Amino acid sequence: MIHIRNALLDLLFPKICNGCQGVLGAKEQIICTPCRHEIPLAGFHKTKADTLKKIFYGRVAIQEATALLVFQKKGITQSLLHNLKYKKQEEISPFLGHWLGAELSEIKAYNTIDAVVGVPLHKNKEKTRGYNQVTGFGRAIAGALGVDYLEDVLVKVSKTDSQVFKSRLKRIQEHHKFTLANKAKIANKHILLVDDIVTTGATLESCATQLQQAENIKISIATMAISL
Ligand SMILES: [Zn+2]
Repeated sequence: MIHIRNALLDLLFPKICNGCQGVLGAKEQIICTPCRHEIPLAGFHKTKADTLKKIFYGRVAIQEATALLVFQKKGITQSLLHNLKYKKQEEISPFLGHWLGAELSEIKAYNTIDAVVGVPLHKNKEKTRGYNQVTGFGRAIAGALGVDYLEDVLVKVSKTDSQVFKSRLKRIQEHHKFTLANKAKIANKHILLVDDIVTTGATLESCATQLQQAENIKISIATMAISL
């Protein structure tokens, strides 16, 4: 009965590829097979390229840094991330997390990770969106590595109200303000900090700087995508 009902639902509401908007086959999830083959991969954990790690040189100490995909304007990655953030396609987050997590679990340098921490959203923004787009990704990676996903370690600080009168630089700095809410929870640990997309690295730098207040902490980074 459930079988028939599901088949009927698929017929009435076919699942659409988040890359090309084509109809997904019964065994396809999130993106179709051609899109999966075409999507540009970053995969620094495989190539050992320091492309992402280099962004943080001289700013904050990072052990390992990788991204799953490359972000290109009007590309499949942009479409995926857009649907994740603005079209309520929350399941894209764990889909990418399972993908990257499976790969990281095979790599020695990532097997020393003790816990995963996601970049937080401001609580009002999370309420409006209904979810933090990074949580499913982080949880899936934590699951693949057999470690905990820690919430409430970092908190996004609320914006102040007189933004208009501040300089542009000051506003940018405040936009990336985070605080460390639980220092003890991450002391003596190797933390994998995760986010959706890295461009200038300002958000991740701000979060990593906060995490570093904890004693004897090591930080690595993993993102869904990198904008090169
Ligand atoms: Zn497709």
